Amino acid sequence: MYGNYPAVFWPDHPCAHKNGLIRIHRAIAYEKYGNAILNLSIHHKDENVFNWAEDNIELVSNSEHIYKHRNRLKTRVCSICNKKFTRGAIKIDKNYYCSSVCSQKSQERISWPPTATLRNKVALVGYCALGRELSVSNNAVKKRIRNHA
Ligand SMILES: [Zn+2]
Ligand SMILES: [Zn+2]
Repeated sequence: MYGNYPAVFWPDHPCAHKNGLIRIHRAIAYEKYGNAILNLSIHHKDENVFNWAEDNIELVSNSEHIYKHRNRLKTRVCSICNKKFTRGAIKIDKNYYCSSVCSQKSQERISWPPTATLRNKVALVGYCALGRELSVSNNAVKKRIRNHA
């Protein structure tokens, strides 16, 4: 094995590493593509590194290779907007967000006005309307006033 890949000791091979090992799939790819493999990546189409059958390996550029793997990321559900997405996940505290907009929303603590202002507003419009205005529940408003006397 070499890294995560099955390898053989073949020091004379043009693609062998300094330690004399060559990954089997690279040896097969060399038969198929020749020196072209030297600066390129070899992708296992089924992602099984033990399947080095000639029709399971293909020569790709490094960026293409990253793209191929990224494209197979799991489908996730955004914790803020519930959208399903597969690419560009942002992970914070075990939650996944589809975009920086959603991840920021999740981090935003609401900036409360001074408690005196809250009390006045409650007197005017009530807990529910004030809650809606601040995008929190009426209970959140009650709590805030109770805990920040
Ligand atoms: Zn690959
Ligand atoms: Zn989202």
